[in-house]
Amino acid sequence: MRIYEDTYRHKGMRKQLVDAIRGKGISDERVLDAMMNIPRHYFMDSAFDKIAYEDRAFPIAEGQTISQPYTVAYQTQLLELKPYEKVLEIGTGSAYQASVLAEMEAQVFTIERQRTLFELNKEFGFLKKYPNLKFFYGDGFEGLPTYGPFDKVIITAAAPFIPPKLLQQLKTGGKMIIPVGEGQVQRMLRLTKTAEGAISQEVFDDFSFVPMLEGKNN
Ligand code: SAH
Repeated sequence: MRIYEDTYRHKGMRKQLVDAIRGKGISDERVLDAMMNIPRHYFMDSAFDKIAYEDRAFPIAEGQTISQPYTVAYQTQLLELKPYEKVLEIGTGSAYQASVLAEMEAQVFTIERQRTLFELNKEFGFLKKYPNLKFFYGDGFEGLPTYGPFDKVIITAAAPFIPPKLLQQLKTGGKMIIPVGEGQVQRMLRLTKTAEGAISQEVFDDFSFVPMLEGKNN
């Protein structure tokens, strides 16, 4: 069960979380503002109410996780998002990351391979606040060719390799943020499409994501 009430206590805990994330080196105030505006406890079972504002990942349905707030902030900051940009997210999960992108006025397209998680988000009233956020059930390795090309692509699961179709769906000048690696730990990369067929790569910190899996799951 979830509780959709945002009390002063929740807002206070959220402010502390945002300050802690700023203290860990996130400096993009638009990212921090978006996280201040989104009640993270709405995205989790009420059993987690008291710990929803700890800087930790938590279990959601289907053995999946809602990413750690610091990780969400880190990936979002690397995106260098501008309002109205088209963003493709792979791995909707709880839809928390997608909401942060939507709160920052991007046009967000997010894909989830687990049908149960996809269905849960269709019934999640808070998300109706974002007409600029669209949900898809499918395999993220395929991307969304009919809606592309995208200004930005963000992958929120551990990618075993850089999915070629996602690179194809990136605009020239566009950026992809992707944690790559098959073991427990992945390296965060930022890829920039400098020209058709030309990619430059920057390497950032290590993170731990659930795996990006091929195909979709009923
Ligand atoms: N962005 C999420 C974190 C999700 S965890 C959040 O803010 O909560 C990673 C998610 O990626 C899981 O829900 C998993 O089911 C999904 N996933 C894994 N492989 C995928 C694929 N190939 N296509 C789409 N989603 C995928």
